[in-house]
Amino acid sequence: AVRLAGATKTFGGTLVLDDVDLEVAPGEFVCLLGPSGCGKSTLLSLLAGLDRPSSGQVSTGGGRPALMFQDHALFPWLTAGRNIELALRLAGTADRAERRTEAMRLLGLVQLADAYGKRVHTLSGGMRQRVALARALAQGSELLLMDEPFAALDAMTKEVLHEVLIGIWERRRPGIVFVTHDIREAVRLGGRVVLLSSRPGRIAREWRVDLPHPRRSEDPAVLELAM
Ligand code: ATP
Ligand code: MG
Repeated sequence: AVRLAGATKTFGGTLVLDDVDLEVAPGEFVCLLGPSGCGKSTLLSLLAGLDRPSSGQVSTGGGRPALMFQDHALFPWLTAGRNIELALRLAGTADRAERRTEAMRLLGLVQLADAYGKRVHTLSGGMRQRVALARALAQGSELLLMDEPFAALDAMTKEVLHEVLIGIWERRRPGIVFVTHDIREAVRLGGRVVLLSSRPGRIAREWRVDLPHPRRSEDPAVLELAM
């Protein structure tokens, strides 16, 4: 489990996060919801171990989390396949043929098998985010930290990617912390929803969007695109 206990964060004397307690169990899907500027990305960077709290404790649970941002941060001139193979190499897959097979498998998982040989800059925004998701999965991490990964996408593409993400979570059960400022998105993805209030960021409320819950889209067009 990853855990923040009594974590605070100040930037230049301004208290941004105040006394945050949050534990994410293995395989748990958590949506972290809150208005712009409330400290969501700051909280995520503490969970990621990219930054230290000003006070309080963080335990990152040993493993290295995989990160995914709104800006996909892929190498645009490399193919989708190469981007993923690089991540696989960094994660320790030494054999080239093995990396290739695994990259293709991961692209299949995000329903983008065709993109293996395509350069990232020629792909659409939604396709890039799928490649970014595949690359995050390539890191083989038990924990995915996602910072508004679909915020820049249109509603239809977003819906498809929600399906893809839920499908991956159902099959592989990574822990996920999904940051969003969009309450509909949080409720759509479900699981445990944690609401952060602003100035300073505090956990204001927590609830669970329980099953049965329309995790699966009702829209056949979306389902077809997600498959
Ligand atoms: P958004 O939804 O817009 O992404 P957020 O909830 O992710 O917002 P943060 O990026 O965590 O918010 O920022 C919270 C507050 O901390 C903001 O007031 C921001 O200006 C401040 N802040 C974040 N990082 C730094 C930094 N490195 N130095 C100074 N201030 C910072
Ligand atoms: Mg942010």
